[in-house]
Amino acid sequence: MAKKQFQAESRRLLDMMINSIYTHREIFLREIISNASDAIDKLCYLSLTDEGVGMSREDFRIRITLDKENRTITVSDNGIGMTAEEMEENLGVIANSGSFQFRKDMAADKAEQADVDIIGQFGVGFYSAFMVSDKVTVISRKYGTDGGARWESEGADGYSVEPCEREKPGTDVVMHLKPDADEDRYGEYLDTWRIKELVKKYSDYVRWPIVMDVEHYEQKETGETDADGKPKTEYVTETREETVNSQVPIWQRSRGEATDEECKQFYKDKFHDFEEPLAVIRVNAEGAVTYRAMLFIPAKAPYDFYTRDYQPGLQLYSSGVLIMDRCADLLPDCFRFVRGVVDSPDLSLNISRELLQHDRQLKVIAGNLEKKIKSELKKLLDNDKEGYAKFWKAFGMQIKYGVVSDYGMKKDLLKDLLVYENSFGDGLMSLDEYTKKMPDSQKMIYYAAAENAKRAAALPQTEQVRDAGFGILYMTDDADDFVLRLLDGYNDKKFCNVSADDLGLETDLEKADTEKKAEENKDLLDFVKETLAGEVTDVRLSHKLKTHPVCLTTEGEITLEVEKYFESLPGAETENLKAKKVLELNGSHPAFAALQKAYGEDSERAKRLAKILLAQAKLIAGLSLDDPAGYAELVCQLF
Ligand code: ADP
Repeated sequence: MAKKQFQAESRRLLDMMINSIYTHREIFLREIISNASDAIDKLCYLSLTDEGVGMSREDFRIRITLDKENRTITVSDNGIGMTAEEMEENLGVIANSGSFQFRKDMAADKAEQADVDIIGQFGVGFYSAFMVSDKVTVISRKYGTDGGARWESEGADGYSVEPCEREKPGTDVVMHLKPDADEDRYGEYLDTWRIKELVKKYSDYVRWPIVMDVEHYEQKETGETDADGKPKTEYVTETREETVNSQVPIWQRSRGEATDEECKQFYKDKFHDFEEPLAVIRVNAEGAVTYRAMLFIPAKAPYDFYTRDYQPGLQLYSSGVLIMDRCADLLPDCFRFVRGVVDSPDLSLNISRELLQHDRQLKVIAGNLEKKIKSELKKLLDNDKEGYAKFWKAFGMQIKYGVVSDYGMKKDLLKDLLVYENSFGDGLMSLDEYTKKMPDSQKMIYYAAAENAKRAAALPQTEQVRDAGFGILYMTDDADDFVLRLLDGYNDKKFCNVSADDLGLETDLEKADTEKKAEENKDLLDFVKETLAGEVTDVRLSHKLKTHPVCLTTEGEITLEVEKYFESLPGAETENLKAKKVLELNGSHPAFAALQKAYGEDSERAKRLAKILLAQAKLIAGLSLDDPAGYAELVCQLF
């Protein structure tokens, strides 16, 4: 029989498959099984209206047969089948598909990369059989016709079609595996366990049973007895047909059919985590895009989470068939810790669908999931403080990064999820909770930044706020201050960093008093400023301070924390990112009186006192001293 040629584009794809060094060639099985499943869908659908089909749902199955001797793997189905014409039409042609167009648009040097991506993300269909086979035979009989047809091809040089017998409707795809070469061991696909593993991995939730013969090595009684009268046993190999896929994925079940406990167990098995997830998010969406999703918030960060190695993403299924293991497009970066699966029948494995269309559908799903994740985290925060504290410990940093990255694009989404230690002392507190506790007289959200909550609480600048009866949030992370500056207020309330901003708590009388005192001590303040030139940009009298002699504050956008934050970023250009430091003095403190006295009598001593006061202010603010020994020496000279 004369060989027929594949159409030009099909030949090119075939060439690409055959010569592919593609590492995921194991997906050929997924593709062939998906086709079988589709064919059964079609016949099953027909059986609803056509009694002649004579089959019920339970009768349909996909069978995998391994023949080690002939090196073949056969996938059979009792689905709709194909006529000879349909085989020519379907197996000899690839439509001018979106994927192809996409590939054509790529620059030549990128083409190989593109091949890999396309094969990995979307179905490549029947042709993928040629990634592992040097010959493929398809024997099929269409439902409602007599006899069958055999299609055969050894690759790019063409195919033949001829009539043949097949007892019942359905299709067998016989793949003749390529010979083993040094690195390419196609023989692995003749191994029952390997095939079972591949079915589990890619086709576990195909809704028709996938059966295959599995050998079991077992001890059996022979029926005879030994000298002691005990039954004799022997080891025998028994072959039994087994269903190797579990068919109904847990995310396709309703809430009643799958308890939260079962979902959590599923998470542990599937994502290899010993700990239960903090929350299970279940979505069943119908509308613009139909999909189901089951997402999980892990209780702790994987060891590589904060490294480049971590690969975020959700598993993407189409009607139970795995399309992609880590689809990053489904998750915004701020929620990259979420694990789970998305299953949408609207996403087809079919290469002939437009790539762009997939893209649009994924975007719709991603948008919905983002809202769901946010509201689930908020629910956790409102209902389970302890659980949220765990979440915060593991992923709080990610949420903060989320606020600052991409020019604050996600800040409104994330601001409700921020929590802080605080002067109320009742665990972590959200900005919402804080603002709800604010008395009418309080105009701003006060926060103090330091290495830990204890140090923040001890900052001299917090005294006046506390005396006014207002609460304070403690920022203990270098990024915190930066995050709040980006938010620029919450629920119409401005933020006030006690170390950088005007506390707004002085009365006009107090202000006038401070101004008067500053005027009287102008020379002294100028003297101190000159003495500390280079270290501080200004020296002032302050009304903030009650029992403390000094404090260090900053002027302008760059606070001590912002400075520290940028210094902590590897490779950041920090030259122009230095905080403008101001030394504030308590004019009513004995230390200030001592300074005044020394200034009048002994300017060297006054210089020493000024330096000591600055050193103290720096230490309280959590900064280190450039010259600790020099400081100790200064203090000793006081004795
Ligand atoms: P697709 O992405 O459309 O499935 P394939 O190359 O995998 O592309 O298959 C091409 C067509 O061949 C299918 O759409 C289907 O019509 C037909 N086909 C493939 N396998 C089978 C099968 N087992 N039974 C019936 N028809 C099949």
